[in-house]
Amino acid sequence: MGRSNKGLKRTTLSPFIETAKSQSNEDKKLAGLLLPFTGIRSDVFCHLHGPTCFNYERNEDDELVPRKGDDGTRIPKLKVHKSAPCRKGDDYKPCGDCRRGDREQFEAKYGHHEREIPLPSTWKDWSEGETHDDFVKKELGLPELVENYFKLDEDDYGKEMVAGDGVSENQVRNWIKDIADEAGIGYERGTVIEQKRGETVEIHTHDMRGTYCMILIRNNYHRTKITSYTGHKHVSSLSPYEKRVAEETDDINYLDHI
Ligand SMILES: [Zn+2]
Repeated sequence: MGRSNKGLKRTTLSPFIETAKSQSNEDKKLAGLLLPFTGIRSDVFCHLHGPTCFNYERNEDDELVPRKGDDGTRIPKLKVHKSAPCRKGDDYKPCGDCRRGDREQFEAKYGHHEREIPLPSTWKDWSEGETHDDFVKKELGLPELVENYFKLDEDDYGKEMVAGDGVSENQVRNWIKDIADEAGIGYERGTVIEQKRGETVEIHTHDMRGTYCMILIRNNYHRTKITSYTGHKHVSSLSPYEKRVAEETDDINYLDHI
């Protein structure tokens, strides 16, 4: 059996997010904030394309604004296409990962059709509430980060893809590990010894997807709403994350009795 997904619990999520926010390397910062707050897979992140993966359009003043949704509000969203041309690299050919799957295009593994995931501008830090069923609302600034970072249409400034023309999953993994190590969450998560890094926090890029599920569960989102964002076929796929969130409140209840 493979390693189960270990999303960040509330006590490690907080230092991880604060450390991600403080990064001067904009690429690393983007990875550290966009992955846990959209739940996209690492391969989707590596193929993100500013002009086609965000719901921006020009208004009458020629400014880029999020497109109006069905409810008339303009909420910034990230779009995960079911399949899209692979634009990674500078050679107009599909990247090695896409070619390995014998495909011409990048294919998202989850979801039957295009998914739209809202980009939050604040987040709830449940580790700093007055009591364990209370939270402190904190700035996240994900829409602003995306607007500044990406080129969102032909006339916009910014990077077309992450780091310019896309990144490798190994690079993303290193960014996540850098942030986790700097955040000092090894005591709670455990550490492993790696040849290149030495002692490093036990964390995988894919744990960011679990982290996203746990964030939504903690904030009491409807299960079908969560799967409409994550692309999971069945709500039953969420049970490991529900269990992990339940665990963290058990941990706290236990501490309360000491
Ligand atoms: Zn590709």
